[in-house]
Amino acid sequence: MKNLNLVFAIIFLFVNDIFGQNNEIQADPVALLYSKAILKTTLKKHLSILASDSLEGRQTGEQGQKKAATYIATQLQKMKLKPIIFQEQETYFQHYRIGDEINTENVIAWIEGTDKKDEYLVLSAHYDHLGKENGKVYNGANDNASGTSALLEIAKAFAMAAKNGHKTRRSIVFIFFSGEEMGLLGSKVYVKNPIFPLDKTFANLNMDMIGRQENTKDDIGKVYLIGANYNKNLKKLSQDISKTYQNMQLEYEDKESYYFRSDHYNFAEKGIPILFYHDGSTSDYHQTSDDTEKIIFPKVEKIARFIFFTAWELAKREQALKK
Ligand SMILES: [Zn+2]
Repeated sequence: MKNLNLVFAIIFLFVNDIFGQNNEIQADPVALLYSKAILKTTLKKHLSILASDSLEGRQTGEQGQKKAATYIATQLQKMKLKPIIFQEQETYFQHYRIGDEINTENVIAWIEGTDKKDEYLVLSAHYDHLGKENGKVYNGANDNASGTSALLEIAKAFAMAAKNGHKTRRSIVFIFFSGEEMGLLGSKVYVKNPIFPLDKTFANLNMDMIGRQENTKDDIGKVYLIGANYNKNLKKLSQDISKTYQNMQLEYEDKESYYFRSDHYNFAEKGIPILFYHDGSTSDYHQTSDDTEKIIFPKVEKIARFIFFTAWELAKREQALKK
């Protein structure tokens, strides 16, 4: 009998696995509550400012990028997120140079965890873009004012939860990179001079271009999880989050080698598990037509909440993420 039970048990687990029924997570009412702080109206407010002509395309080292950095830091300060210590100063800026000419900065804030605070989850988005050319501004509404706005809202949700006594067990680091469009330079500098130890950084969730649809008939919950095929644990977790909290249409195909093309790649190169959230591609990519009015804000909201749920689970659960 015992053996037979074992056989049945194995068959059950096998079938369960095939049909993906073995959801290992449970909805956390606290996460559900604070996910509601992520709002499409606020996303639109941030994005409209970041992608306005007055920020001149946020080119790394130029006035527009500095204005964007100041805007982001002001928001982080309002949320009362912790600044970093950089060159013995409390600040939200990790300054760096590119060659002799260009001075720029990553913008970084964090929330200290509780009993597992020495483990760090990095959430990131680049905020720079292509600047202007012949009087035309590359506003980069999707690339990547969308990810930047989403990261601000996710940070706000975590900050509100922490303020009300719901800190996560692990620490969460929010990084807004500059220099991305010049060759992932902000993240390259960060992994070379990490503010938080890389060997204690257990994952990077990066968002870059999350506000557009590839096809008009797409579900707004459609999102590419680039890198998921290299990390079955993050892939499984994402599927479970989708089932538990809100249904997403998860895609894994990396048609355009995006794995190598945004800031998460520098973390992946250091052996840190990554996920890259991306909406696919449109013909407005790197064109002056990448503008605010084309952004689908309910989609940005849905993806931002999805990332929030994923980060929440990673930062609060008992077991550490396996590589
Ligand atoms: Zn980008």
